[in-house]
Amino acid sequence: MVTKAKIGVSRCLLGDAVRYDGQSKPCALVIDKLGEQFELIAICPEVEAGLSIPRPPVQLSGSLENPLLTGRDDPCIDVTELIHNYCLKKIPSLNELSGFVLKSRSPSCGLNSTPVFINGKCVTETSSGVFARALQAAYPNLPIVEETQIELSKTLNDFIQAASQDKMKGLV
Ligand code: SF4
Repeated sequence: MVTKAKIGVSRCLLGDAVRYDGQSKPCALVIDKLGEQFELIAICPEVEAGLSIPRPPVQLSGSLENPLLTGRDDPCIDVTELIHNYCLKKIPSLNELSGFVLKSRSPSCGLNSTPVFINGKCVTETSSGVFARALQAAYPNLPIVEETQIELSKTLNDFIQAASQDKMKGLV
């Protein structure tokens, strides 16, 4: 039996209702196309860190370099340390993955697409979520895309090729 390479996927993209609003964001390209070729490993950083479903929405805030993860509607909520601690424990265990598909615009999972708010104003929409930053820092050679990027067939094919060939080079 041929063993499929494993790729990580933001869990809400697989149709699991784990989002802050109790909904999911199923992505047919991930489920059908990538699911044919890879073993899909579902990961939801916010739920695995211990947050509930549903939960108050959070956003990146306060700083471009080291943003906090605070409540969108209630700024007293701050789950930055909770998610950082989760990343510290979880990310070293992901060294068997050959790629990762992340959910765009998420304050945890977004890669170069997440808004940051400073003093209530959106100052960029091209930042990365806390989990995505930690993943990329630990595995700089890991092929990572967002689900919106693989709508382009060239990007999808490039990702499939890279994830099929590339193995993680280990923690840095
Ligand atoms: S975007 Fe990431 S943290 Fe948010 S629900 Fe999906 S998997 Fe969970």
